[in-house]
Amino acid sequence: MKRCLWCKQKAVIYMREHRLALCKECYPKWFLRVTERLIKEWHMIESHDKVLVAVSGGKDSLGLWFALTKLGYEADGLYLDLGISAGEYSTKSKHFALQLSERIQRPLHIVSVAEEVGRPVPDLAFASRREPCSACGTVKRYLFNKFALENGYTVIATGHNLDDEAATLMGNVLRWQLAYLARQAPVLPAKEDLVKRIKPFVRFTEKQVALFTILSGIPYIEQECPFSEGAASLFYKDLLNKIEERSPGTKWAFYSQFIEQLQPLLNEKFPEPELKPCSKCGMPTTAEICAFCRIQAIAYSG
Ligand code: SF4
Ligand SMILES: [Zn+2]
Ligand SMILES: [Zn+2]
Repeated sequence: MKRCLWCKQKAVIYMREHRLALCKECYPKWFLRVTERLIKEWHMIESHDKVLVAVSGGKDSLGLWFALTKLGYEADGLYLDLGISAGEYSTKSKHFALQLSERIQRPLHIVSVAEEVGRPVPDLAFASRREPCSACGTVKRYLFNKFALENGYTVIATGHNLDDEAATLMGNVLRWQLAYLARQAPVLPAKEDLVKRIKPFVRFTEKQVALFTILSGIPYIEQECPFSEGAASLFYKDLLNKIEERSPGTKWAFYSQFIEQLQPLLNEKFPEPELKPCSKCGMPTTAEICAFCRIQAIAYSG
């Protein structure tokens, strides 16, 4: 077993891409240091910002909420109750989110999709004849933004990690979805009534985030959302892990070079279509009626 490079105790992780072995005490310190550096370098949070963390009860979002408060940011949580009853997914995940809120003494706001939209996510997908993740994604983006706006939060932080982002990038590149690529960024600045969105964990792999959360003593829901099964992103993650195994550091190079070199050019070439207020709810959209209001209308009509 390797020894920790910093203190020579027994290491718990060896990161081949950094040629760095660390023990259970030094690893969380390294992790926080890297998070802080990324937040500063990519101008994610400024001193006047009020941060809202999108908390799902999983390792990434709970780890993120904990890390941000450890780094001194006053970050509150928002848990969206999706109303997924299979495997008691929503009940269990809410329980873990509440547990952390108590430990770090920061408020956890709870918003119920069924109350806001008229039906829980599984029924919504059925009624709107969309894939569950498509309806869920639209509803989540909308409700997080609405809550942040109405409650004075200036930044929404999500727990996406490098595996998530590299898999999305791979999916978009394979189909050359240039308009999507133009908007795939770890920081989306505020625009009109859209609150700034950041992904402070994009420097870490899924395993690195999990180890940080575990070593910080945070229990989280291990079960995946039942609708994530068979998602293409899981296949891409697997492929990228195989590439990483052969050639450590490739995942980060793939993602970071895109963000630094190509994404700004695409962003210029494919500017976002002009936004106007939704004729029903007033939130910014490119259509006459926004996607959320369209889903809501279907939810109430069935
Ligand atoms: S896997 Fe799909 S349905 Fe489940 S939480 Fe994620 S987006 Fe929503
Ligand atoms: Zn050490
Ligand atoms: Zn609307």
